[in-house]
Amino acid sequence: MHTLNADLHCHSSISDGTLAPEVLAAHAKANGVELWALTDHDELRGQHRARAAAAALGLPYLTGTEVSVTFAGETVHIVGLGFDPDDTRLAEGLARTRGGRELRAREMAEDLARVGIKGAFEGALKYVGNPDLISRTHFARYLVEIGACRDTQEVFRRYLTEGKPGYVPHRWAALGDAVRWIVEAGGIAVIAHPGRYKLTPNQEYALFSDFKEHGGRAVEVVTGSHTAQDYVKYASMAREFGLLASRGSDFHSPEESHTDLGALPYLPGEVQPVWTALQERVLRP
Ligand code: AMP
Ligand code: MN
Ligand code: MN
Ligand code: MN
Repeated sequence: MHTLNADLHCHSSISDGTLAPEVLAAHAKANGVELWALTDHDELRGQHRARAAAAALGLPYLTGTEVSVTFAGETVHIVGLGFDPDDTRLAEGLARTRGGRELRAREMAEDLARVGIKGAFEGALKYVGNPDLISRTHFARYLVEIGACRDTQEVFRRYLTEGKPGYVPHRWAALGDAVRWIVEAGGIAVIAHPGRYKLTPNQEYALFSDFKEHGGRAVEVVTGSHTAQDYVKYASMAREFGLLASRGSDFHSPEESHTDLGALPYLPGEVQPVWTALQERVLRP
């Protein structure tokens, strides 16, 4: 086992988390996290705040983001770690990826209105911390608020997903572009939570090999949405594809997330941790 409590995946109110970067940093520190990264969806705006807060707490920090990608008709997430947070091409790529979220959100609200849920756009907007980043999570919080569902997990079972009310297909960044933006900004690209995608075995193989060809170097093995079986499967795929392994809770909110910051099993000993390749990118207090 690699007994470093690294948590390299979580969200602040700058994307779809509920806590400010400074509050998350303090929470990470209190939970014993030893290396931290804030990975807001398609956004870098929280990076300087997270880095400063981590430094003030004596918490080593890696820059982070989570890029939304469309691959084989599915949404796939690519985490970037250890890049230059002021890189303009990465910032422009993410800005293009964010574009279209508002229009998509208006269409989601129209679709929800067809099943009798009115005012969902305005309702979701109340939960948005960054107007450029309205996401399904904000709609989920509104549906819970009005009593349409008990919790956000139930929302994603009954609404907002393919074939359900409020789902609007969307085209995100291309896999090669997302990887290139991260790599050219000096970072490492990581396949986020591979166990969550509805890909066939052939499509999953294609994801890993295309990712690697584009310059991707790591995969999340231990993450909040993986089962113990997933840890074993993706540790073995990391070895098969010569990828480094990452670990992150994907924490969004104390009320909604079942995995708290830093509260994950350690990476298994047979993989090589992604942080071994990022030593010179770690911001040490
Ligand atoms: P979006 O980027 O607007 O498509 O929203 C995606 C976000 O919705 C993810 O980052 C998660 O935070 C959340 N989400 C998606 N599926 C689920 C699920 N099954 N359960 C809980 N949250 C989910
Ligand atoms: Mn999210
Ligand atoms: Mn994700
Ligand atoms: Mn995430």
